[in-house]
Amino acid sequence: MAPDIAIGRVSRMDAINNRSVVEAALRKAEEKLTNLKKVYSNIGSSDFGICMKCKNEIPIGRILIRPESLFCINCAR
Ligand SMILES: [Zn+2]
Repeated sequence: MAPDIAIGRVSRMDAINNRSVVEAALRKAEEKLTNLKKVYSNIGSSDFGICMKCKNEIPIGRILIRPESLFCINCAR
């Protein structure tokens, strides 16, 4: 009986840990989606591909790799 309880406790802790991992991933995904929608709404406007902080152009390579980027590499740090 005791080992079963111990296993139950361990797996419950695992579930709690997994939950926080999943929640962190969800927050990241939501942030990425929000940024992507913003970038998408900028397509065709003069704000597209422009860093929101320093107003310099974001290199096309960065846009292709991370299309959700709102900042240039320097400002994203
Ligand atoms: Zn910048």
